[in-house]
Amino acid sequence: MHSGDGKMATIGVLSLQGAVTEHLACLNQLEIVRGVAVKTRPPLEKVDALIIPGGESTAIGKLLKEYDLIAPLQERIKGGMPVWGTCAGMILLANRIVNQDTTYLNVLDVAVRRNAYGSQLDSFQAQAVVEKVSPEPFPLVFIRAPYIEQVGPEVEVLLCLHGHIVAVQQQHILATAFHPELTGDLRFHRFFVNMLNEAA
Ligand code: GLN
Repeated sequence: MHSGDGKMATIGVLSLQGAVTEHLACLNQLEIVRGVAVKTRPPLEKVDALIIPGGESTAIGKLLKEYDLIAPLQERIKGGMPVWGTCAGMILLANRIVNQDTTYLNVLDVAVRRNAYGSQLDSFQAQAVVEKVSPEPFPLVFIRAPYIEQVGPEVEVLLCLHGHIVAVQQQHILATAFHPELTGDLRFHRFFVNMLNEAA
């Protein structure tokens, strides 16, 4: 994909903690966008879209606050920058965390439960079709994953697995409880690039 000035569009990966290199590798494999690590405000102002990776939401959230990135990030998202949160990223985007008082970016109208699958199912794999993204099933990797318990009126549910909401889209905001960047399957990253094309 190319932005208006003929240059390849840039997708940032928030690089404070978590599965950063995996997302960058997926983006660069697509060969249609440039993936860059975003740790500070100057690159955040320049990217065309942003991925907030999985990891530990408390750690990433703490660093977002320490580096004064909450307000600039909220501003860019409210201004229409496409953003995709995977796992911890979904928690960071949510405006409600049912088992924790602190929230972070408050831009996605969902109530999310952290570590929702409990100790036995802390991590598991599954397969499912996410119709809006592709007709063929996806391999789904869940690692101490959250799920969504409630969604607001603007939120489209993309996947409900075992009765729990695990992928949603709210206009230019995408959130998945699972980790496409760990599966070698690039269809979700391609879907996100299409969201960027539509937003442009
Ligand atoms: N359990 C983590 C959290 O609550 C999320 C795990 C992940 O991103 N894989 O932040």
